[in-house]
Amino acid sequence: MKIIMLGAPGAGKGTQAQLIAEKYQIPHISTGDIFRANIKAGTQLGKEARQYMDQGLLVPDELTVKILLDRVAQEDCAGGYVLDGFPRTIPQAQVLDEALAKQGEKIDYAIDVNVPDENIIRRMSGRRACLACGATYHIEHVPPKQEGICDHCGQKLVLRDDDKPETVKNRLKVYHEQTQPLIEYYTEQGILRTVDGTRSMAEVFDAVAAILS
Ligand code: AMP
Repeated sequence: MKIIMLGAPGAGKGTQAQLIAEKYQIPHISTGDIFRANIKAGTQLGKEARQYMDQGLLVPDELTVKILLDRVAQEDCAGGYVLDGFPRTIPQAQVLDEALAKQGEKIDYAIDVNVPDENIIRRMSGRRACLACGATYHIEHVPPKQEGICDHCGQKLVLRDDDKPETVKNRLKVYHEQTQPLIEYYTEQGILRTVDGTRSMAEVFDAVAAILS
């Protein structure tokens, strides 16, 4: 099964993608995670991607499409995958569709995790991340045991640059302008499904699982 998760940044699509990956035993592929791993490793790709990410802008399609197509060509993706954060533009979606069509394949479902902008801004300003080990928290919903300190490695937690209110507003603007048109794109293909992302994580996943079964 090949699944795309759509939704604004902070809508919870990453969490749902992770749950789908566990339930269906397929890889969870996040282009954001791939970029962050490259930034951490100090690669050329990471250096280029960072300039855009820190401002809440999209990394150009030329860089993004290649890493995604390389990733889905790997052996562990033969039985399907769940994409989280890709595609984010119509050209990205078209390139993916064309690459799949060459192999007689297609995306099965595009699931939109729908959350209004006001909820997103509230959610993201409460996020905290450990830059040392990658663990993420939320000051209200998933607090660390000791305020400001990572449970796993004891390092200081921070509000990631791309979760700061100004950047979040920018990311939402970019989302509405560049990514939301994908809702229409996948509706026309007949594979769009929408879930209410304001509900609890478990309730959202029940709705997702009902679609996939
Ligand atoms: P995410 O972790 O999915 O929220 O992604 C974090 C950041 O990585 C985004 O704000 C973009 O700057 C960049 N990014 C991730 N995926 C893509 C993509 N498919 N196209 C362009 N930029 C992306």
